[in-house]
Amino acid sequence: MPIKTAAIIGAGIAGLTAALALARHGVRAVIFEQAEALTEVGAGLQISPNASRILNTLGVLDALQPVWLEPKEVRLVSGSSLRLIASVPCGSFARERWGSPYGAVHRATLQKALLDAVMTNPLCTLHLGQPIDATNKQALDATIGEEADLIIGADGVWSKVRTLVPDGPSPHFSGNIAWRFTIPEALASRVLDRTSVTAFLGPSAHLVSYPIKENAAFNIVANISGSSASHDWNAAGTKAQREHLLSRFSGWNDNIRTMLEQQEKATFWPLYEASAGRWHNGKDVILIGDAAHAMMPFAAQGAAMAIEDAFELAGMVASRPLIEALDLFEKHRTPRIARLRQRAAFNHFAYHARGPVRMARDLVLSMRPPQSLAADLDWVYGYHAIG
Ligand SMILES: Cc1cc2nc3c(=O)[nH]c(=O)nc-3n(C[C@H](O)[C@H](O)[C@H](O)COP(=O)(O)OP(=O)(O)OC[C@H]3O[C@@H](n4cnc5c(N)ncnc54)[C@H](O)[C@@H]3O)c2cc1C
Repeated sequence: MPIKTAAIIGAGIAGLTAALALARHGVRAVIFEQAEALTEVGAGLQISPNASRILNTLGVLDALQPVWLEPKEVRLVSGSSLRLIASVPCGSFARERWGSPYGAVHRATLQKALLDAVMTNPLCTLHLGQPIDATNKQALDATIGEEADLIIGADGVWSKVRTLVPDGPSPHFSGNIAWRFTIPEALASRVLDRTSVTAFLGPSAHLVSYPIKENAAFNIVANISGSSASHDWNAAGTKAQREHLLSRFSGWNDNIRTMLEQQEKATFWPLYEASAGRWHNGKDVILIGDAAHAMMPFAAQGAAMAIEDAFELAGMVASRPLIEALDLFEKHRTPRIARLRQRAAFNHFAYHARGPVRMARDLVLSMRPPQSLAADLDWVYGYHAIG
């Protein structure tokens, strides 16, 4: 028998989307979030057509489109000479080719749009300030206050719900650091494109920039390799860590270097990923989003995969016996996530290439027309989630 009630741990992108997707099938969703309030944390997110299609079905896209930026292109640019290496068209091209828009938005804007929809849905309940210690199912049921048919661990890369899943994934440091900051548009260097997503590439580093229209600011993420013992996201970083960041950008265009030197407020994000492992306990607990498969952001698909997971899981548990649905979800999602991890690893290799590999990369990319580069992404952006 399909389920009636699900308890969702975590009100991030995965948890909120799961609640809406379950409610769409008449399933009651009770969300438990450790934070007292869902405040403005994080920075920019790119929402590709595979995810925006789902947000549209859930009635959330209309709240985003008036405020987000639909980039004209995603551009790959040399970090030293600023020469355009390659570009993939977005804007109306994305709408036509992949059947849904590509947008860039602040994470807080997406979370708020999902939250507003959750708060007005009679089948969804949200409890804030409720950290769940999920080391055993009975304690969890006691906190939840009833026996939910299904517990969904949407509690991010440091998931505690994982302890309820034998042979589940575990997090490890990826060897990469992201430095994030925003710059008011009025103060931003002219090398930052106002209409597109730009990835500036250099040996062992790349820097992604795009406007966050609703904040009149640019979102900047500088990605480098590095070492870290910290679990903190959003930390200020030490003096030595800042010096290490700048050393990775030596030889880059002066405007970009100056922008990095002046960023007192840049935050240091060690990037952790989750190893492969089981996502459900064969009974009544399942992991989704970063809890299941936190991955490197180099394909810009972390949030999109959380949205796809939530939508597809809801469709499956609402239409078949629970254990069959959990099994089907894992079998169906695992190959796509594995392929995306490979794509992110390939992007990392290609973006940070040096010497002859870099020259070969630039030559190959410059010979390929934008439409042909777009075709490489059909399997990511053209995906129609089953819901
Ligand atoms: C603060 C923050 C900022 C981010 N900013 C960006 C960004 O700018 N750009 C980007 O590409 N990606 C960002 N990410 C990552 C991106 O959002 C994720 O890859 C993607 O959205 C997957 O989301 P998720 O819902 O699976 O996990 P998360 O977004 O990590 O959400 C997990 C939620 O679970 C809650 N939680 C954790 N443990 C417990 C517990 N024991 N009990 C109750 N609740 C719990 C957390 O407070 C959080 O709200 C951010 C993540 C976080 C947490």
